[in-house]
Amino acid sequence: MSVVGIIGSGVMGKDVAVTCAASGYNVVLYDHDPGVLGAAEGDIRTLVRRYRMTAPEDPRWRDKGIPDRIRITDDMAEFAGADRIIENVVEDAAVKEEVHRELREVCGEGPLIAVNTSCVSITRLAALAARPESVIGMHFMNPVPLIECVELVRGHHTSDETVKRAEGFVDSLGKRPVVVRDSPGFVSNRLSHLFMNEAAFLVQERVADPEQIDEIFTLGYGHKMGPLATADLIGLDTVVDSLRVLYEDLQDPKFRCCPLLKKMVDAGLTGRKSGQGFYTYGVSR
Ligand code: NAD
Repeated sequence: MSVVGIIGSGVMGKDVAVTCAASGYNVVLYDHDPGVLGAAEGDIRTLVRRYRMTAPEDPRWRDKGIPDRIRITDDMAEFAGADRIIENVVEDAAVKEEVHRELREVCGEGPLIAVNTSCVSITRLAALAARPESVIGMHFMNPVPLIECVELVRGHHTSDETVKRAEGFVDSLGKRPVVVRDSPGFVSNRLSHLFMNEAAFLVQERVADPEQIDEIFTLGYGHKMGPLATADLIGLDTVVDSLRVLYEDLQDPKFRCCPLLKKMVDAGLTGRKSGQGFYTYGVSR
């Protein structure tokens, strides 16, 4: 089976890695942070156990070899020969640009380059690639193994062949691709970040508690999760970063970040991954 290179071993990178490995791909997982890499193997085993329990009907999670198909590395040169690379580093355009410049040196002209981002312009990152036509946005949603939809984002340069390759890959993961055009926040995050941000303003203004706000969405609108539980799941730091990109790229004040969100991030309350956000969690990830 072909090799998938994954950059960034955070919340999304690890989820994407186990999803690819569960579908039979060999994965090379890279991060620049030694602390993150040191924890990655244990985190991956925990994730596989968790998905085995939450999706017992899915035969892919019964495969005992999933963690063994994920090689963890601190050297991007190990991507040489990969057919697809999925970039999942922090939601900061400057950091992503630096990574894509580096990638150009490492893998030259071969692979499909997929960018997992909430809001950063695919066109801007593709312009840095050896073959901009091979770059596409691949917006996985969290938790990756359990969400059926992947938003594929066609940048200015993305070729029809790249869209087809990306659709085939998403299909092979048992997911459904929805192809949209490049625009800040695409469809998903342009809408969802308004909900999450405005919900934080409601908490700040003491109009309602997080539980009440989320209940209105779950019980009232039939959503699986409310906006504040979703923000905790994504990571409040990532939500704040995404709002900054939306605000700057669209030059629209409606995306101004709620001060309470910024304050919570400054205090280290980043949601599930820190154990505390709008809600308290027993286990951090
Ligand atoms: P995260 O903060 O959990 O992880 C980011 C990882 O990137 C970290 O492990 C960090 O060490 C690594 N990193 C940073 N700079 C790097 C570099 N120069 N080289 C290599 N690794 C580097 O973030 P996340 O939640 O996994 O988000 C990753 C991307 O996925 C973001 O663009 C985000 O917007 C997008 N996304 C996140 C979610 C979500 O629910 N968290 C959902 C969809 C998309």
